Amino acid sequence: MVKAVVGANWGDEGKGKITDMLAEHADLVVRFQGGANAGHTIKNHYGKFSLHTLPSGVFYNHTTSVIGNGVALDIPKLFGEIKSITDQGVPKPKILVSDRAQIVMSYHVLLDQYEEERLGGKSFGSTKSGIAPFYSDKYAKIGFQVSELFDEALLQEKVQRILDLKNILFEHLYHKPLLKAQELLDELHRYREMVAPYAADTAAYLQQALKEDKTILLEGQLGTLRDPEHGIYPMVTSSPTLAGYGAVGAGIPPYEIKQVITVCKAYSSAVGAGEFVSEIFGDEAEELRRRGGDGGEYGATTGRPRRVGWFDCVASRYGCRLQGTTDVAFTVLDVLGYLDQIPVCVGYEIDGTVTTEFPTTASLKKAKPVYEVLPGWNCDITGIRKYEELPQNCRRYIEFVQERIGYPITMVSNGPKREDIIYRNN
Ligand code: GDP
Repeated sequence: MVKAVVGANWGDEGKGKITDMLAEHADLVVRFQGGANAGHTIKNHYGKFSLHTLPSGVFYNHTTSVIGNGVALDIPKLFGEIKSITDQGVPKPKILVSDRAQIVMSYHVLLDQYEEERLGGKSFGSTKSGIAPFYSDKYAKIGFQVSELFDEALLQEKVQRILDLKNILFEHLYHKPLLKAQELLDELHRYREMVAPYAADTAAYLQQALKEDKTILLEGQLGTLRDPEHGIYPMVTSSPTLAGYGAVGAGIPPYEIKQVITVCKAYSSAVGAGEFVSEIFGDEAEELRRRGGDGGEYGATTGRPRRVGWFDCVASRYGCRLQGTTDVAFTVLDVLGYLDQIPVCVGYEIDGTVTTEFPTTASLKKAKPVYEVLPGWNCDITGIRKYEELPQNCRRYIEFVQERIGYPITMVSNGPKREDIIYRNN
């Protein structure tokens, strides 16, 4: 049985916490897209961790963590992360890396940095981890697959081909030092040594696991609104963030994904640029940012202050729909306990007409939020484990959101820890 844990919004919805929690009853946890550009923050009995490449199942002895073929594999970062968790007392996790995953090279990171520099104020707000140049090369068919590391003749030939291409950009567009063949080969040889013990045909491994009735969790990065096809293009990431892509990026049959748990945060937040209709500013925003998440809304990878806003039913309904949601995990609800009244965005006004359909980017730029204001519950709800024990106004908020987004909220997260969860039958 395969379950996907994905995001409905801009990312940072709390997928890491939900995956870590569900991994207790899973055999394998698979990353199927994205790279080390975004992160998950997880708090458990070992401490607080920021994971970027490792799946959020690495904290259990019984799970195998799989880096699927769809991932942008940054080998030094993966190793750095393994070291950082084992240094903090986590037992060495069992990790498999797809032999079809492609490798983020140091020149991808450089290209990302140089391009952001060149664009100046018009940049895409990249985290400069090389993700966009990496995926561009993958689809231009000049990427390095893990399996290719073991073919020396191929490496020699390909390095030269790539140098010819990249050095034109380095010299004439960016005016930077040129790449050297031997340095690239050395880099590839280093990666070969590092990754060799972990490389495997992970799709075949997952197929076997399915035959044995194992439980597989697919862990998504970012959320629907950052999907390159269905998100707020061009302020999107470079690989699909949808559960459907889980089949491709992990190499499993699509019909095996039986449950899609879409994580929706009880208010909105976004790192980086892009349309965000229910964004708030000033003191109101500063207070939510300070109280938000676990220790404030600051990016797990970048440390950048997150933009914050009220819950957006239009974006979340759309976000859930594109994911193919079977369950919504509604997270970080405890943070809203300080508010007397809570605005919820229920529609977008565009050119004088109110819509509840999430439009394409050009219309989004014109959209103004239409709010309904719900009463707050004015207390701390952390520690509550039963739905009926939540204050009435808190339940009202959850039920209001559920009705507007049209998908069942079956889990409510009221704190950053594994055990801070309320299961709910609809
Ligand atoms: P992800 O990328 O979707 O995994 O999200 P992040 O890890 O970037 O951001 C979620 C933040 O919220 C992390 O700091 C979590 O520890 C925290 N968090 C997750 N669930 C809850 C919750 O229910 N309440 C609170 N207060 N914090 C939470």
